[in-house]
Amino acid sequence: MNRRAVLKKLIVTPLMLPSLSLFSQERSGLPSHHGENGFINTDPEFAEAGFNEMAPWLAGKLGDIFYSTPKFDIPREVNDGSIFKEKKTYTITWIGQSTALIQMEGSNFLTDPVWSSKAGPFKFAGSPRISEPGLAIEKLPPLDFVLISHNHYDHLDEYSIEYIADHHPNVKFFVPLRVRDWFEERGIQNVEELDWWEGASFNNLKILCTPAQHFSGRWINDRNQSLWCSWTVLGKKRLFFAGDSGYCSHFKNIGKKFGPFDLAMIPIGAYDPRKLMKPVHMDPAEAVQTFLDVRGKKMLAIHWGTFILTDEPMDEPPKKLLSVVEEQKLLKEDFLALKLGETREW
Ligand code: ZN
Ligand code: ZN
Repeated sequence: MNRRAVLKKLIVTPLMLPSLSLFSQERSGLPSHHGENGFINTDPEFAEAGFNEMAPWLAGKLGDIFYSTPKFDIPREVNDGSIFKEKKTYTITWIGQSTALIQMEGSNFLTDPVWSSKAGPFKFAGSPRISEPGLAIEKLPPLDFVLISHNHYDHLDEYSIEYIADHHPNVKFFVPLRVRDWFEERGIQNVEELDWWEGASFNNLKILCTPAQHFSGRWINDRNQSLWCSWTVLGKKRLFFAGDSGYCSHFKNIGKKFGPFDLAMIPIGAYDPRKLMKPVHMDPAEAVQTFLDVRGKKMLAIHWGTFILTDEPMDEPPKKLLSVVEEQKLLKEDFLALKLGETREW
């Protein structure tokens, strides 16, 4: 829960209860990822990096956050949006980071839309964007819905959400638990909030909030007060969006319940230093394992080539992905690391 939401609760709650005690009162009988002081990761293997290890690394990143405006040549394809006028049943377009436009059985939807040039709480401070979005936000076709995996700035972007809500009047936002407040504070009402394993229908599609292993927070006082998730979209074909996640046992479960998936969108970047990142960000080898666990048929690599978040070179993740695919003698054409703006049918 962010600072404004906490203030709002304090003002409107007659008993002036602090928000954390509201959270604990609602807990009884809830699933194991609802912890005492926020949401928690439930995989027995999960072990978060300690503050003593994390703090010096974060301090070293401050230069990037305040001063850096680098550019980097990530391959791109010109996309002026005209391709979306012709309705195709199944397409995917990579726009950058975890933002993709999907056409599926008559619906147009986005995952984690981020068009801003910094991922952070202020315009002057945040992880810098090194590559322009693959499609201008003005060129989006009419949107039906948007899936949000969690509230980190490289996944939930105020500018993009407000633009989309203003220009796509019927768009619906699907969000994990306790992210709806953020939308309501901005006057956006068409939001459905779901817990892990809960589902909703949208036209002919079934949309399910599924687990992931990660964390949340936009400010210093709201760590893990809102949930993180992956999304499963079931129609005649099946799509899986892993969100932001470390490698974990949830994926086998999801594969068992809802797979095989015709397309699985899986993060491959933000993995170094490995010791600190492993609990919350998978590397390319783990992304391939996730793809196998969910029983994917094709994989789109996401969460790379866009924001400087961690230490690996910006163009390294797809190279590592390719070498893992070759090592494991998997079919190269099933693993898509698209150019920015590139559209494929699936
Ligand atoms: Zn994240
Ligand atoms: Zn991320």
